[in-house]
Amino acid sequence: MTLVMKFGGTSVGSAQAMRETADLIQNCLADWGQVVVVASAMGTKPVKVTDLLLQGANTAAAGDGTTYLQTAADLRQIHHQTINDLLADSPEQEAVTADIERFIERFEDLCRAVLVLGELSPRALDAIGGMGEQMSVRLLAAYLRHIGQPAEAIDATELIVTDDVFLSATPLMAATTEKVEGRIRPLLAQNIIPIITGFIGATADGVTTTLGRGGSDFSGAILGQALAAAEVWIWTDVDGVMSADPRLVETARSISRLTYREVSELAYYGARVLHPKTMRPCISHNIPLRIKNTFNPDHPGTVIVPDEQAVNGGIKAVTAIENLSLVTIEGKGMIGVPGIAARAFGAVARTNVSVLLISQASSEQSICFAAPEAATDGVIAALEEAFAEELTRQDIDSIWAWRPVSIVTIVGAGMRGTPGIAGRIFTALGENQVNVVAIAQGSSECSISLVADAEDTAVAVSHIHNLIVTTSKSG
Ligand code: ADP
Ligand code: MG
Repeated sequence: MTLVMKFGGTSVGSAQAMRETADLIQNCLADWGQVVVVASAMGTKPVKVTDLLLQGANTAAAGDGTTYLQTAADLRQIHHQTINDLLADSPEQEAVTADIERFIERFEDLCRAVLVLGELSPRALDAIGGMGEQMSVRLLAAYLRHIGQPAEAIDATELIVTDDVFLSATPLMAATTEKVEGRIRPLLAQNIIPIITGFIGATADGVTTTLGRGGSDFSGAILGQALAAAEVWIWTDVDGVMSADPRLVETARSISRLTYREVSELAYYGARVLHPKTMRPCISHNIPLRIKNTFNPDHPGTVIVPDEQAVNGGIKAVTAIENLSLVTIEGKGMIGVPGIAARAFGAVARTNVSVLLISQASSEQSICFAAPEAATDGVIAALEEAFAEELTRQDIDSIWAWRPVSIVTIVGAGMRGTPGIAGRIFTALGENQVNVVAIAQGSSECSISLVADAEDTAVAVSHIHNLIVTTSKSG
């Protein structure tokens, strides 16, 4: 049986982490027979390699000719230190050192080109941003070979075929499956573990693309589907999906079971632990998904199960997205005028901004939606242009934004069958002076989202989290 495992940045972020990861890979190989590994770029604390790469590119585009050179030096230092620690005196050391140097030189070349051109295209950003994975997989594969485990580093540009939407590409599964079959099956047959880059893919013409930030989780699921894997496991630095971001809520606890829908809502509304697209291939191919802790592997973590297996248990988790604004279109003349919403969202879509939450007053006198704060001025300008006539006629009185705000989302399939939950939530928020400016319920009824003043985010999250402890049995 084939197990696909994705290791996040911290799981390969240091020599020690790579050793633990290599141990886990060998143990799982013994249990499963066939293991395919997907790895992120090194996520050494406090710097992540991908952030360094993107920062180097962005500063070069802004005309700064020195930062990217410093970045290159930092990249050398991070990787060489790890190589020296893991592979001192190994026959693998020289080749992998040269490999890494080749990528860092290419990074410098690309940044120099960006500096000269004064322009950074999405295509160039993807070529640069994906190099961290290309370096980490070479290092991990070399270390596995060093400890006697046959392994081969592979760039997913050879495997995952995508469209050409740079920065957020979509896989083309038929072409991908064919490539994966041709390249990965023979390795598995020879007991060689493929160590594959997360995050990246390539167009049919071979141009590097990326699947979006945090997209390595998605890479794992794509490869799981292509290989008809028995399970996909995401290894990270916490004990699975938790009731809140453990960095924000000290009492957050691990959730043993969640449904695809619940975890999709959590991921979509800001819980960084899983990329929101990860669930798609798993749902459509019924592949069980687990999230586990590299640094505490005996903990069972979280298993994601089909929606029918939802357990009643009230609120399960709370999450938040910050730095948003709530854009409102209002006017008495909007009542009964067909197509206002369609035109509004059409105008927003043309600015390439995605809307996170929509709420409409039943009187039709206003529509409001949440969008990233940084995009707000552009969105308002686009709406004013689209509704210029209505504004002149005063059918629409105003288009304005409330900002900054956050979306706080409460998730739990069992909320549906548990009366009074919404009441308890709003009572708790009211008692703690949280100013709620809009509310929306997910169509699946397994989530409720509210928009609150940015300054109230932490208070809202922590008081809602307190309700979890009092309303839920552990799922
Ligand atoms: P990786 O590099 O392994 O993909 P990420 O940083 O992308 O790791 O995701 C793991 C982090 O997600 C955790 O360290 C935690 O801070 C954060 N996180 C946010 N919300 C949650 C949640 N509900 N459950 C678990 N972790 C969460
Ligand atoms: Mg991640």
